Amino acid sequence: MPPVIDPDKCNLCGVCDEHCPLDVIYMENEGVDVRYPLECWHCGACRQDCPTGAVDIEFPLIMLGV
Ligand code: SF4
Ligand code: SF4
Repeated sequence: MPPVIDPDKCNLCGVCDEHCPLDVIYMENEGVDVRYPLECWHCGACRQDCPTGAVDIEFPLIMLGV
């Protein structure tokens, strides 16, 4: 599943937009837009680098070795 942003935790810092290697995420005036969810390859950078823990990702089972 592509990332889901918790607007209550997000401080609009823009790090997820800057660090996403595939430009899936874009900053908008009102918040974070996961604009191209089908392009997400679940690298985890947005979740790892988010300073407030606002990003949640459900990784595909195949990536977890299940
Ligand atoms: S990195 Fe986290 S806090 Fe910053 S804009 Fe993205 S979701 Fe919001
Ligand atoms: S998991 Fe990686 S590819 Fe997907 S939105 Fe986050 S940074 Fe971009």
